[in-house]
Amino acid sequence: MITQMVDLKNQYEKIKDEIDKAILECVSSTAYINGPAVETFSRNLEKYLSVKHVIPCANGTDALQIALMALDLEPGDEVIVPAFTFISTAEVVALLRLRPVMVDVDFETFNVTAENIEKAITPRTKVIMPVHLFGQACDMQSIMELAEKYGLYVIEDNAQSIGAECIFSDGTRKKAGTIGHIGTTSFFPSKNLGCYGDGGAIFTNDDLLAEKMRMIANHGQSKRYYHDYIGVNSRLDSIQAAILNVKLKYLDQYCMARRQAASFYDEAFSQIEEIQIPARAPYSTHVFHQYTLKVPSDKRDRLIEYLNAHGIPAMIYYPIPLNRQKAFAEFVSPDLNLPVTEKLCSSVVSLPMHTELSEDILRTITERVKRFFTT
Ligand SMILES: *Cc1c(COP(=O)(O)O)cnc(C)c1O
Repeated sequence: MITQMVDLKNQYEKIKDEIDKAILECVSSTAYINGPAVETFSRNLEKYLSVKHVIPCANGTDALQIALMALDLEPGDEVIVPAFTFISTAEVVALLRLRPVMVDVDFETFNVTAENIEKAITPRTKVIMPVHLFGQACDMQSIMELAEKYGLYVIEDNAQSIGAECIFSDGTRKKAGTIGHIGTTSFFPSKNLGCYGDGGAIFTNDDLLAEKMRMIANHGQSKRYYHDYIGVNSRLDSIQAAILNVKLKYLDQYCMARRQAASFYDEAFSQIEEIQIPARAPYSTHVFHQYTLKVPSDKRDRLIEYLNAHGIPAMIYYPIPLNRQKAFAEFVSPDLNLPVTEKLCSSVVSLPMHTELSEDILRTITERVKRFFTT
């Protein structure tokens, strides 16, 4: 392999001393559960995001589940989610006996639009869950206006876009994940801010929701052995928090490295008619969790085979839309038609994207892709 989809090894080598020291400190302190690193990291992330509350938890899926549990919803209440995303977003909805309503996305940005969301709103709709896919935020200004008009909650799934900024029409900027009533993220190793195991967090500016979500994440406890809600046991490990405390300092640098790699790719593919490079929306910065091309559907799978044969990994995110997953069959009407999502599932291909892509590696990858389309 010329490189991997994500190179965590070389990233670690560069900050090895700091990381090793943080882990050893945690191990020798024996404060493995809710140690000081968890508190420090949560406060540091609040500062980074300019958000009032960061509530750490065990993973990004739990973060979504805890967010929904805090909203006093009734079984059968509808939650609008994009059909083109990772399973978690809709999975937790169904798990809580709520009803996931899958909507189509925008072909250019891969993200849900207020227009598509509005078409799916019914009297039972209670929550909108936009997903900031591949490193770029949805148009949160339009989505929040819509939510206000219909009196809906907004939970931003920001597992893929931590560090991205939403840009509002008056020029103000806010970090993705801090605009809806609740935002969530994942620290899965391959995410833009990844730890060395599982981890996640919930964000909110609402004091009451924050208090309730903290309790839900901790067995619904107000104080030890007093349980006010049915909760879960979902914690961020102290060791993972210690690692994240080191990596958070480098997050902006990492975002920059990803953007530079993306610019290199863009430039290299600009003359190839059959390749559509990822669009940049005016309402968000891009932190390139993925660098995702659109290519003709009849060539996509052959392109991946060709790249793999030459030691270059390439992946399809996502090959099957949520509405066609067996697990969701009971929630999907047979006449549901999501043409953009279908088109994307057959034409997207993601190239290696991480913080350790040298020009040499990028040149090797782009030359191969170009050769496939020009010979
Ligand atoms: C990774 C991811 C999640 C889930 O995160 P985990 O930490 O793996 O549970 C949720 N939503 C999206 C969009 C993701 O990419």
